[in-house]
Amino acid sequence: MGEETIKKIQDAGVVGAGGAGFPTHVKVSASARTIVVNGAECEPLLRVDQQLMARNAKEMIEGLKTVMELTGAQEGIIALKDKYKEAINTLQREIAGKPIKLNVLDDFYPAGDEHVTVYETTGKLVPQGGIPLKVDCVVTNVETLINVAGALAGQPVVDTYITVTGAIASPVTLKLPIGTPINTALSLAGAGNLKGMKVIDGGPMMGKIVEDLAEPITKTTKGLIVLPEDHPLITKRQKAIDRIIRESNAACIQCRFCTDLCPRYLLGHKLEPHKIMRALKHIQGQEEALKMAMVCSECGVCEQYACIVDLSPRKVNAMLKKELGKKGLKPEMPKEQAVLNIQPHRKIPVKRLISRLGLTQYDKKAPLSENEYTVDKVYIKLHQHVGAPSIPVVKMGQRVQRGSLIAKIPDNALGANIHASISGTVVEISDSIVITSGEGSDR
Ligand code: SF4
Ligand code: SF4
Repeated sequence: MGEETIKKIQDAGVVGAGGAGFPTHVKVSASARTIVVNGAECEPLLRVDQQLMARNAKEMIEGLKTVMELTGAQEGIIALKDKYKEAINTLQREIAGKPIKLNVLDDFYPAGDEHVTVYETTGKLVPQGGIPLKVDCVVTNVETLINVAGALAGQPVVDTYITVTGAIASPVTLKLPIGTPINTALSLAGAGNLKGMKVIDGGPMMGKIVEDLAEPITKTTKGLIVLPEDHPLITKRQKAIDRIIRESNAACIQCRFCTDLCPRYLLGHKLEPHKIMRALKHIQGQEEALKMAMVCSECGVCEQYACIVDLSPRKVNAMLKKELGKKGLKPEMPKEQAVLNIQPHRKIPVKRLISRLGLTQYDKKAPLSENEYTVDKVYIKLHQHVGAPSIPVVKMGQRVQRGSLIAKIPDNALGANIHASISGTVVEISDSIVITSGEGSDR
């Protein structure tokens, strides 16, 4: 254990499967007292982690034990929800006698925001603008840990699990080769005719509309949600920022519901979205208020749940974050931070959220398929993780086997290795992608 194990994780190209794709070999090189497994999966309709925890509990615990040993952690805490009964039963057997415990959460949003998860499981407050390591914790994802276990056995990351759901006949969770085009994933899930439909990549709260269905899935894709193009979750996402600002200036009644329900504000962060909305009107001299946007997690509670006049503080904050980021500003860490005593009473029940989002008819199971799917062609992005894009190590026309290295981490850079997800021939290489055409059944 130690350097050799970290090298195996690096070689296998493991990255955080549930977020932005931070390279796992770097994350596990830190020291921490506690490893928190984020199994809350709080985005409505997504069904990946809750099923993997039940089906792949053994591998997940092996991955967790490895990460605990590498970081020197004394305890592992698995945060999951009360309603994941099968996962709870299986994991209870697997963790018996180990320094690992389950932390069963109520069904609220956003239980999976890492600041919220760390607070709910350990009682520690990650400082605003900081990462869990500041309070001696590392947060990791279910699928990531399963990939760590795979790395120990010499298996690189070549597949990812995604839930395909929404307005389709039979929602399902599939294991697909990385680089599978989204339209292929949808057709494998039986999505049928997509005329008049739009697709969200990710959850209904934080996901983005897919502009081009030929785009491939990556190591961090978790869900595809098909919705009619006139569904409020689609039309709201399509509003231009100029219009959002005009509407904010005209219609914000300063009720402050957005602030009172903001999960980060409730954890004591200096983030009051109603003040940001007020400051938008008079930009001059309002820099301090506008700077608060830097600590917004973009969870969407203010926009999709709190605001009674249908405004979008989240999008305003996202725009401000981009602008302030260009000026090199970073979120400030306060000297003191205290959770508000109303916090426990302001958690948003997921059932109510689903109803507010107009998703009740789509709130269905999406069973994990055991099929091993074959695809003809994969479009593997060279930048699907935090850090520098990977550098191709294959040539045009080269034969590759599923699992062979096709792009490596640039020298002395943060990044992740990338592997062929099907066996076949490399047919295109650019700065951003390697395309492999397969022989179908030889996976
Ligand atoms: S999106 Fe809204 S509710 Fe969520 S952290 Fe940002 S301001 Fe708060
Ligand atoms: S909830 Fe809406 S109307 Fe109320 S303060 Fe926030 S943005 Fe303005």
